[in-house]
Amino acid sequence: MPAAGGVVLVLSRLNRILEISPEDMVAVVEPGVITGHLKKEVEKFGLYYPPDPGSADYCTIGGNVATGAGGAVAVQYGVTRDFVLGLTVVLPTGEIIDCGSRTMKGVVGYDLTHLFLGSEGTLGVIVRIILRLVPRPASRETLAAGFTSLEAAVRAVGRILQAGLTPAALEFLDRPTLECIREMLPFSLPRQVEALLLLAVDGHPRDVASRAGRMARLCREMGARPVVRARGAAAAERLWAVRRIISPATFKVKPHKIAEDVAVPLSAIPRLVAGVQEISRRRGLPILCFGHAGDGNIHVNVMYDRGVEQEHREAQAAVEDLLALTRKLQGTLSGEHGVGLAKAPYIGMELSEPAIALQKRLKQAFDPLNIMNPGKLFPPERS
Ligand SMILES: Cc1cc2nc3c(=O)[nH]c(=O)nc-3n(C[C@H](O)[C@H](O)[C@H](O)COP(=O)(O)OP(=O)(O)OC[C@H]3O[C@@H](n4cnc5c(N)ncnc54)[C@H](O)[C@@H]3O)c2cc1C
Repeated sequence: MPAAGGVVLVLSRLNRILEISPEDMVAVVEPGVITGHLKKEVEKFGLYYPPDPGSADYCTIGGNVATGAGGAVAVQYGVTRDFVLGLTVVLPTGEIIDCGSRTMKGVVGYDLTHLFLGSEGTLGVIVRIILRLVPRPASRETLAAGFTSLEAAVRAVGRILQAGLTPAALEFLDRPTLECIREMLPFSLPRQVEALLLLAVDGHPRDVASRAGRMARLCREMGARPVVRARGAAAAERLWAVRRIISPATFKVKPHKIAEDVAVPLSAIPRLVAGVQEISRRRGLPILCFGHAGDGNIHVNVMYDRGVEQEHREAQAAVEDLLALTRKLQGTLSGEHGVGLAKAPYIGMELSEPAIALQKRLKQAFDPLNIMNPGKLFPPERS
């Protein structure tokens, strides 16, 4: 989004997978490779590239690196950041650098590789990426558990994690979200269900069956009805396909939304969700919560109609309420989507002045003429 005008680089044709090495457990790719495509290709070698943003069918590895993208299986495996070993980057000054290495370890010099992670195109153009791969899990099971109270669902998240059951994914959908996708679910959901948990378990088949069984029991003990176990890839895919279409399905509620992706410590999830409900009542707007409960990263969607002046104002105010609440709960303004233009005015709520000044000096060192994504990440100079 060229906010200051200028040249837009389209990298979608830099889309070659240069190498998949089962011996070294790495893939070397160009930035325009579609994430979902890479995931399918490495599977042919018995390997797995875990990061799975909901947009995996159309976002690129380059975009994932530049935004530090996360996804559902971050609970067990981590996020894009945890899988990038090395990069080749064209700097704004025209020099080309390699940073990181093809090895699992490497501590020579400053960790420039991870400085580019989440740099949102402000420090250089990433043109080659070395990714770590892991063995493909032999089996996966998916469960869905409906709770009649939001608090019980959130308590179940804590119990599952504390019991060491290590779900690969642990997703949460609140009632307003469920209303958007109810008829697409492959099972019928009683009207009294207030929150749904979607869980995935990866590993050896026997271990998966045992852990999934314990999770199902734990959810039932906490009052969940129904608890549905999707056995087999096709049944599981039907559930995850519904999860992936939530974002577009939310537009049934209102024509516009402001999608925030705050993250809070696990113990603070109930207070976050209760606080969001209170903001929704106070601002008179529907607010939908869903997302990665297993790592505290909740997508909060403020729904409104941009054409209605009052709703526009209240939506902006609701976002500010939400960000303030998140900081009060020791959370972060963005768990995975980044800052861009939309959140740039707010980064002072999280980063101190010296921290912002240091980041600006880094930007200046990489990009002395401020030619790459000017206006992004940092608060506007005069606002
Ligand atoms: C339905 C939906 C679901 C989503 N789910 C998730 C999710 O689960 N997790 C998540 O983290 N995000 C999610 N996202 C957000 C988004 O898809 C991710 O942030 C993704 O990483 C962006 O990749 P992209 O290829 O679309 O990048 P773009 O939008 O093209 O670019 C994103 C930023 O990166 C910069 N950039 C891109 N390529 C390069 C490069 N090669 N070098 C330097 N800078 C570069 C761009 O300048 C821009 O600032 C979702 C989005 C949608 C629409």
